[in-house]
Amino acid sequence: MDSRVKEIIDRSSKVVFFGGAGVSTESNIPDFRSESGLYHAMNEYGYPPEQMLSRTFFINHIEMFYDYYKNNLIYTDALPNKAHIALAELEKEGKVTAVVTQNIDGLHQKAGSRKVYELHGTVMKNRCMDCGHPYDLDYIMDEKNCTNGVPKCSHCGGIVKPEVVLYEEPLDDEVMRGAVKAISEADTLIVGGTSLVVYPAAGLINYFNGNDIVLINKSKTDYDRRASLVINDSIGEVLGL
Ligand code: ZN
Repeated sequence: MDSRVKEIIDRSSKVVFFGGAGVSTESNIPDFRSESGLYHAMNEYGYPPEQMLSRTFFINHIEMFYDYYKNNLIYTDALPNKAHIALAELEKEGKVTAVVTQNIDGLHQKAGSRKVYELHGTVMKNRCMDCGHPYDLDYIMDEKNCTNGVPKCSHCGGIVKPEVVLYEEPLDDEVMRGAVKAISEADTLIVGGTSLVVYPAAGLINYFNGNDIVLINKSKTDYDRRASLVINDSIGEVLGL
């Protein structure tokens, strides 16, 4: 771990990590919001990702939604990287009190983190829109359970929808409350792999009342001036144990 980050963590007792797409790209999960993600979506489907991942599109073009979703947001072989592993370890040591993430891939939990607030939901959980029966990721990826790629409930035949927050959908109240509480009680906030422009990142950072903000991102952000420490480098290299 970078010695400057370690020094700050050593003198902290409640560290919260706030992470964005950059944490997942280091596990080879591409950022669908990036320029190449946009290019690919336009080329292949004729729509931008934000439109295909909207509630309206889900309702009106459900087969194309699932085709895009399964081929571009699901990476069943992805493994936690050094950043995920370090954060899980720091939670076990009692330093990290929570991880707040904009990612939906479940890699923090796979690494062993327990207190994870997934602002945009998770691909790991799915639910029948009619009867509410829960399903895991394997179920919806298995074509046997799908009609033209659309997963159907084995109990009632309803459509099974990922518990991912689509554009136009509200964030989960309980997740937001938990994230706000964790951030407002932290003495150190480490922000990684995000330029802090995706809603609701910037707003959440404003709840922080503690001593040190550490920003780890490959490029500059608008919040650099508020940070005690800014590192423009790979999050895995900086946090890795
Ligand atoms: Zn059902």
